[in-house]
Amino acid sequence: MQPLLSIESVSKRFAAHQALRDIDLSVDAGEFIALLGPSGCGKTTLLRCIAGFLMPDSGRIVIDGENITSAPPHRRPLNTVFQSYALFPHMSVLDNVAYGPRRAGVGRAEAHARACDALDLVGLGEMGPRLPRELSGGQQQRVALARAIVNRPKLLLLDEPLSALDLKLRRRMQVELKHIQEKLGIAFIFVTHDQEEAMAMADRIVVMNAGRVEQIGTPSQIYRAPVSRFVAEFVGEPNLIPVQQAGPGRVRLAIAGLELPAADGMRCAMVRPEDISLIEGTAPDGIATAPGVVEEVLAIGPMTTLLVRCGDLQLKVARLGMSGTEFPAGSPVTLGLRPAALHLIAE
Ligand code: ATP
Repeated sequence: MQPLLSIESVSKRFAAHQALRDIDLSVDAGEFIALLGPSGCGKTTLLRCIAGFLMPDSGRIVIDGENITSAPPHRRPLNTVFQSYALFPHMSVLDNVAYGPRRAGVGRAEAHARACDALDLVGLGEMGPRLPRELSGGQQQRVALARAIVNRPKLLLLDEPLSALDLKLRRRMQVELKHIQEKLGIAFIFVTHDQEEAMAMADRIVVMNAGRVEQIGTPSQIYRAPVSRFVAEFVGEPNLIPVQQAGPGRVRLAIAGLELPAADGMRCAMVRPEDISLIEGTAPDGIATAPGVVEEVLAIGPMTTLLVRCGDLQLKVARLGMSGTEFPAGSPVTLGLRPAALHLIAE
C-alpha cells in the first residue's frame, strides 16, 4: 500500500545552523505520529516543511503519490493546528468553524452544516452561538480543532496544541483528541516535547535529536528497545549497566555475572527500573541476581523508587506501592534481573 505521506532525505539549513539532516519518514493514512524531541531538535521545522511554510534545501515530500515539495500551503491536502488557537474573537464559534469552507466558496447553509458536523465531532455541538471568550481553554482548543478538520483534510499537523493547557486538562484532552482522531480516520502528525504525551497518544513515535531522526517505532519499541542512550534517557528512566566482550558474539554484564548474545560494539545493557525485582529467598529459575544496598528511598505515591548501590553502579528500582518502609536506606537487598528485560545499546 502506498503511504499517505513520504518524506525523503529532507534537509534544511538556517544560515550556519543545520536544522534538519536527511529526514526520512513515511506515514500511513489514519496513522497518529508524534514528533518527539528536546527544544531546538527540528520538530517545528519539519512540520513547517510538510505544511509548505518552509521549503527544504533538498529532498522530497510526497503526499498520495504527488510531489508537493514546492507546492504552496493552500494546495496541500492538509491543515495545521497551532499552539495558539487564533480564533476570531468577534465571530461566533459556528462562524469561526464555517470560515474556511466559506472562503473556499462553499455556500452559507452548506458551510454551516459542515461546521455543525465538525463541532459535533469535537463534542461542542451546543456551543455554536457562543463567542470564543465564553469558552474554557480546552473548549477553545477543540474549536481550533473543529476548524482544522471541517474541510476533511487527509493529514492534520498539530504543533504542541495542548501545551497552553494545565496538566489535568491536558491529560483529558489527550484522551479526547485520540478518540476524535480515531473517529475521523485522519492521519495526525503531532509535535510534542512531552514523552508521556507521545506515549499516550501515538501509534508511532519519531524521536528527533539535533536535526536527525534518532528512532522511529511504536511507543513500546521506543521504551523497551531504544537504539541509543539518548532515546533511552529521553523516554523514561534507564539503568545503564556496562558490558564487556566475553567471547565472539557475547558480552558479560558488569554485575550479576550474566552473559548475553550481542552484536559487535555493544557498550551497555539498559533495563527499566520496574524491570529490576527485589528477590526474597531463592531466586526463580532464569533470574540472575546481584547483591546491593538501598541508599535512598524516593516515595512518590503509587510507585516507590529505591536507589540501590551495586558495586560501582547506583541502580533505580521501581516497586508498586509504598514499599519504602519495607526496605529503608541501609537495607541489604538482592536484585533480580531477567535477561529478556535487558536491552543492549552501542552508545
Ligand atoms: P521547540 O520544542 O523549542 O519548539 P523544535 O524542535 O520545534 O523546538 P525548531 O523550531 O524546529 O525546533 O528549530 C530547530 C532549530 O532551528 C533551532 O535551533 C532554531 O533556533 C533554528 N531555527 C528555526 N527557525 C529558524 C529561522 N527561521 N531562522 C533561523 N533559525 C531557525
